[in-house]
Order: sequence, then C-alpha cells, then structure tokens
Amino acid sequence: MKRVAIDIGHANGTGARGNGFEEHEQCKKLAVELKKALEAFKLCPIQADIIDFPEMSNGGDLAATVRAVNAGNYAACISLHMDASDSPKAKGAHVCYYSERGKELAKEIALRLCPQLPGRANTTVKRTDLYVLKNTRPVAVLVECGFITNPNDAEWVDKNPDRVALSIALGIASFFDYEN
Ligand SMILES: [Zn+2]
Repeated sequence: MKRVAIDIGHANGTGARGNGFEEHEQCKKLAVELKKALEAFKLCPIQADIIDFPEMSNGGDLAATVRAVNAGNYAACISLHMDASDSPKAKGAHVCYYSERGKELAKEIALRLCPQLPGRANTTVKRTDLYVLKNTRPVAVLVECGFITNPNDAEWVDKNPDRVALSIALGIASFFDYEN
C-alpha cells in the first residue's frame, strides 16, 4: 500500500480567479476526484490523503502543507493548481518538478493530462522557486490543471474533474509501477 498526499493549492480565496471560478474551490473538486481515482486501483493499492488548510493565509498554507507532507509516510505528493494569465488566450496544462524523480513523475502525468488540456509548448517544467516542491521529502510535483483565466480550459475542467483526476492518477500509478 502506497500513500499519496494530495495538496489543494492555496488557502481559500488566496489563489487565482477567472471565468467565475476560484482556484482553491476548483482544486478541491479535483482533489476529491483524484483521491477516488487513486483508491480505485486494485493492482496498485493506494491510500490518498487530501491536505488542505482553507482558513490560513497563503504562506501559512504552504508551511502547514510541507509539515503535513513530511510528517506522513507518503510515497508521493501532488499539488493541484490552476494557472492564470493576463491574457485569456493562454491555455493548457503543465506539470512542474524540482528533483530528478519529480521529473519522471511529471512526465508520466503530463503524457496523460496535457493532450486533454493542450496549449503549453513545454508540458513539464523544472522549477527551483516553488516552496512545496523544494521542501517536501517525498517525490513531489505541482500540476497546473489548465488556465482558470482561459474560458475553454476553465469550463472543461469544471465539467470534467473526473477526467482530469483520472489522467493524473494513471500517471502516478505508472510512475510507481516503473519504480517497483
Ligand atoms: Zn496556484
């Protein structure tokens, strides 16, 4: 049994907004679906915990998330976000990583998620400035599930949280499969 930490990006109301949607609220929906999808795998048993501190400040949420992830016996940490841009035309999902193992996990998730939310030239990106990725001990990635500021991305994610979740879950399961 592997344990996966699902981090809902940002505290309530502190993330991005667009097209009538709010980032924390949308990522919470995605987290519930991701937990369901991960725990449905029979050949690769996974227990998933949703990590969320909705009433904190953004900085408080980050610090509390890192503490919770490092205190649990997690095999991986997935931070769920939606991107934002001043241009409503910017669209597409991508997956951020920091470590070499994070890069492998990011590739497995991007391979399945990004065809559904296309638009980014680089579907995986190394980021050295993301607190959650740098400070968590388990392999960690940050998934930007499309742009909340793009009408098509925002609508599609809102209507299909189960499909976004399944793509991410399949990526995680296949990463675990490689490493075993
Ligand atoms: Zn975010």
